[in-house]
Parts: sequence; C-alpha cells; structure tokens
Amino acid sequence: MIHLENLAGMSRYGRMRAKFRYYFLAPWMVGIWEFQLNRLNKENIQLYEKFHQEGIVASAKGRRVGGFRVIPVEREIKDDREIQPYEKVSEIIETNSKFAVADCICRKESEILGDKCDKLLEACMTFGVAADYYIENGMAREISKEEAKQILYKAEEDGLVHCSSNHKGNKIFICNCCGCHCKALAFLTKHNMPGLISQSNYYALVDAATCDGCTTCIDRCQVNAIEMIDEIAAVKRERCIGCGLCVSTCPTGSISMVHKQPGYLSHIYDDDFDLMQARAKDTGKAFPFD
Ligand code: SF4
Ligand code: SF4
Repeated sequence: MIHLENLAGMSRYGRMRAKFRYYFLAPWMVGIWEFQLNRLNKENIQLYEKFHQEGIVASAKGRRVGGFRVIPVEREIKDDREIQPYEKVSEIIETNSKFAVADCICRKESEILGDKCDKLLEACMTFGVAADYYIENGMAREISKEEAKQILYKAEEDGLVHCSSNHKGNKIFICNCCGCHCKALAFLTKHNMPGLISQSNYYALVDAATCDGCTTCIDRCQVNAIEMIDEIAAVKRERCIGCGLCVSTCPTGSISMVHKQPGYLSHIYDDDFDLMQARAKDTGKAFPFD
C-alpha cells in the first residue's frame, strides 16, 4: 500500500491542497506536463514533444468533447444580452481570492529550444487551490488581484487568447495562448474548422462598408480565420474561435463580435466533474475510474 505522504513527495503526479489535503489523478494537459515547468531541458522537451504528438494528439482524433473554452476579450462584447459569468474574465477574477502567475510552459519550451516567442512569457494564471499548488511547488509567484487583471490586459495587448476549462463552475486557471507556440491552440489552428471545435458562443463579423483593407486583423488573428477578398477583410466562420482579439486593433472599428444563434451555441458542462465524466465517456472509460 502506498503511504499518502509518499504521494505528497510525488507532486509531479498532481496533488492539490485545500483546507484538507486531497489527491487526484491529474490529466497530462492541463496537468502533469505543466507541472514539469522547473524541470525542463532540451532532452526531456524532445521526449514530451514526442509523447504529445504520438500519444496525446493521436488519441485526440475523433474526440467530440472539448475540454477548453475560449473566453472572449470582455470589452469587445457589445451584445445586449447578458454575458454569462463563465464568459467574463472579470467575473473569474472577482470570484477568486488567491492568484498566481507562472511562465507559459509552451513558450518556455520554445525558448529553451532556441525559438523564443515574442509574446508575454509569464502569462499562465492559476487561482485558489491551483495557485496554492503552483506557489507551494515553486512554479509560480503569488500576485494581487490587481496584478492579475493587469496581466490579462497585457495578454490581450500581446494578442494572446484567454482559455479556460469548458464548464460553468469555478475556474482555477486561465491560459493565455498564442497561435504560434501554444500546443493546444497550434493543434486547433492545424484543424480545418477550429471554430467548430473550440467552445465559444461568439464569432467576429466585418463590416465591409467601412473596412479599409489594412490587414491588421490578419496579423492579429491567431488561428488564420481572416482572409482578404477584393482587398476587404472577411471572417471564415468555420475557423473563428470567437476570441475578440481582432476587434480591438481594427483602426476603422469595422469588426464586431456576434453572439451565435440558439442551436449553434457550444455545449458547456456544469462543473469540472461533469466535464471529466463527459471526456472519459468520449474515450470509452468510466469516471471516477474503477
Ligand atoms: S483591421 Fe479592420 S480595417 Fe483593417 S482589414 Fe481588418 S477589418 Fe479591415
Ligand atoms: S477572427 Fe480570429 S481574432 Fe477575430 S475573433 Fe475570430 S478567431 Fe479571434
């Protein structure tokens, strides 16, 4: 029988602490792989990459349950209807009381391999028990609520996509992802229709009458969802993940975020447990595991 305190020393396998200590089987991503943040070197990065491509990416083919949800840039949502709390970065920050920020493991790996990303490196945010875990294990620094908000603004300025788990419950992390180095977003970008896989209730729309064809939005979009047709920008709906990044930098204010119609809204799970059950079912397994 494995003594629980031995497990505590095996934090690389995933342990979190709340009022009472408890243990859980962490997934590979977000989980075991991110917890290697302070152990990265050129050799193990190659091994992680091999496992990621041959194990994770290969096994993801045919899956229908998306674990990630894109959280749109909040100030770009001008929709009359109420924005759901799980779609508001400000709500996620306000409902948490402890905050930590760590380097993004994707961009840190790239830097070690000599392919440095020019976007914000210290951008991986955790809250509550997840923040405790990251701080306790020397992977993140504790920050104030105000600094957490500033980091999220900086991430938006840098053109990073806010992502978190696809459920309505309390969020314990926000990833700020780039399309060039982030494993999840890069995987999505390679897909023909990332807009159908990513879980977001919005898409971008260009007003062709005011667009001056400057192409700023093309550089801004992380998933290649915008093309120029007769020198006017046009959004490819099947590629748009509804992040809102293109809206803020359009000099003519020609882009707006549109709420999807009922029937096209992406499914959101009740909480982490509900999501884990759905993901297990998607792979033919039971959760909690037998
Ligand atoms: S940034 Fe705005 S004005 Fe420039 S091409 Fe895109 S939609 Fe048109
Ligand atoms: S077009 Fe690109 S940048 Fe704009 S909302 Fe869609 S995915 Fe985001």
